[in-house]
Amino acid sequence: HAGEYGHNNYQFFSKSLNVAAFHKLAMENSLRRAIERDELELYYQAKIDIRRHRVVGCEALIRWRHPELGLIGPSQFIPIAEDSGLIAQISNWVLENACRQVLAWRRQGDCPELVMAVNVSANQFRQPGFGGHVREVLAQIGLEPRYLKLELTETILLHNVEDALVTLRELQALGVRISIDDFGTGYSSLSYLKKLPISELKVDHSFVRDLPHNEDDMAITTAILALAEALSLEVVAEGVENQDQANFLLDNGCTVVQGFLYQRPMPATEFAEFARVFDSRSAADPIPR
Ligand code: C2E
Ligand code: MG
Ligand code: MG
Ligand code: MG
Repeated sequence: HAGEYGHNNYQFFSKSLNVAAFHKLAMENSLRRAIERDELELYYQAKIDIRRHRVVGCEALIRWRHPELGLIGPSQFIPIAEDSGLIAQISNWVLENACRQVLAWRRQGDCPELVMAVNVSANQFRQPGFGGHVREVLAQIGLEPRYLKLELTETILLHNVEDALVTLRELQALGVRISIDDFGTGYSSLSYLKKLPISELKVDHSFVRDLPHNEDDMAITTAILALAEALSLEVVAEGVENQDQANFLLDNGCTVVQGFLYQRPMPATEFAEFARVFDSRSAADPIPR
């Protein structure tokens, strides 16, 4: 992620476990105050239909603007939040803010058909009453459920399929859509795909990276695309960084992509401007870099 997170980001290659433990505790304590101090931010990355040249959705990605350490990415603090129980509070903050944002855009007439995707952590999804909680948040904010999509990994879904199914059915009944994130990197069980009410598969970045040169990745990607097509699921490829990857995906029926080739995750105001400009160009125009 060259360039996105701050340079003064902590570099912590622990010399001893004590240092690691101290560091974790310090991070935990400052994370505890991050919400009250208003240090959390959502960045947004577009899901782009490259055939129609339209922004069709976006994904909310959390960042922590630490006063001393700069912009910190989720992989550096979500695990700490999960371990320390702070994840519930952070997850609620993300869900509420992402829903408010998409509603604000709709009211301003920006991105009228955009669906907001929110990443859901394992602990959050397994909270009893998660479905009801999502319903309450949507009702309180006044957002129609069809504008919200939840991204879950296979591991989260398959940890306890029966419980997951109950929650997913509640969300489905509500009208919230479900996407399977990092598809193909978790359990390789396909039988659940026909059982669970999901609407989207996200082809993991790791399969996209070496397209169209690595034969294995080409085979895996085309297989996932065929599976999505056969099961009438939407499909999104993540981590598209170059035109060869985009062309391969398009040639193989994947029309929706996310990646640095089109847009890096950015704050809400910039995102709305990006989407406006992008949508106003015709498919024949070169894609802005
Ligand atoms: P993810 O949901 O699979 O998100 C995709 C990650 O790939 C994001 O990293 C995004 O910035 C990055 N990315 C997008 N396009 C490209 C590209 O073209 N090339 C490369 N190399 N990377 C690209 P980020 O924002 O650092 O997020 C990492 C992970 O943290 C996410 O993976 C997600 O699992 C988690 N996460 C992010 N926001 C939240 C949140 O609000 N709640 C929870 N529970 N997890 C979150
Ligand atoms: Mg995601
Ligand atoms: Mg992903
Ligand atoms: Mg990922």
